[in-house]
Amino acid sequence: MRAAYAKAMGGEAPLDNLEVGELPRPEPGPGQALVRVEAASLNHHDLWTLRGQVGTPIIFPRILGCDGGGVVEAYGPDRPAGTPEPGTPVVLYPVIPCGHCEACLGPDESLCREFGMLSDKVDGTLGEYVVLPAASVLPRPAGLSAAEAASLGTTYLTAYRALFTRAGLRPGHSVLIQGASGGLSTAAIQLARAAGLRVYATSRDEAKRGRALEVGAHEALDTNGAGRAILGLTDGRGVDCVVDSVGEPTWRESLRAVRSGGSVVVPGATGGGNPPADLNRVFWRQLSIIGSSMGTRAEMVALLRMVEATGLKPLLDETFPLGETRAAMERMERGEHAGKIIVAVGAG
Ligand SMILES: [Zn+2]
Repeated sequence: MRAAYAKAMGGEAPLDNLEVGELPRPEPGPGQALVRVEAASLNHHDLWTLRGQVGTPIIFPRILGCDGGGVVEAYGPDRPAGTPEPGTPVVLYPVIPCGHCEACLGPDESLCREFGMLSDKVDGTLGEYVVLPAASVLPRPAGLSAAEAASLGTTYLTAYRALFTRAGLRPGHSVLIQGASGGLSTAAIQLARAAGLRVYATSRDEAKRGRALEVGAHEALDTNGAGRAILGLTDGRGVDCVVDSVGEPTWRESLRAVRSGGSVVVPGATGGGNPPADLNRVFWRQLSIIGSSMGTRAEMVALLRMVEATGLKPLLDETFPLGETRAAMERMERGEHAGKIIVAVGAG
């Protein structure tokens, strides 16, 4: 089968580690599903793998791609009850939990001690077929294309957990989402709006602020001075929560924008991980600083139900054929995209 894979990692030109070619079609083992992939979406995780910036040991060749949409082809022995019939359109849960640590045996496998994803622990979705735990194969919401389904995994799941599980936001709450142009921030704006929140977003760039409004923000603010602007818009109160996945460039304004007793949830730190902590403000205003990463299978199921119930459509960027995966990665690396970059994997 054809696949886009890493043949090595690191070095001066990490994208040279990417190759598209023929690899053996995988066979599902006990408790596993074989899925025919129709579309995959790219994540920065794919670039990190090529650069050698992942914590998991990688065995080469390793097929890239954390997220995919496709059709169940077959199951290995011991198919779990309730799994979708072969031929069913599905979405793939991207986390590969170890299945036996304290976290995996409890309610929150996203805290797994041997946490890994499709494309690092096992082969990913940028191949015509992928094998994964049968429980990770979830029926695709009605009305979603394979490309839209492939966009939901990593980015939208991370945003869902940050907003609704970790920050505990409810309809009627207000949220400021920093760095409106990133994929995670776009997902957070869409989900927060669909859930009945008052949504503020920031960007330095006017065109990107316009896009934030298009995907659902009520107000889009300049990143500089966002704290003061939020106080002006909220009668001096501040927002219930700030989603800050940027870090150093935005942290100061995030702490200014949040109300006393509110929370700042951190699902990433793309702009640097060590801003001044401003602890006086944290204790005096009784702020909660909350980390968040990926999500559980149960959260993925809830996300899919939310998408189906609200009609939310993930924002898609360009689609590339599998043979042009390198061009797709280059587009992501340049940060030119708005929404998820799609690779059409299957012949269809
Ligand atoms: Zn585990």
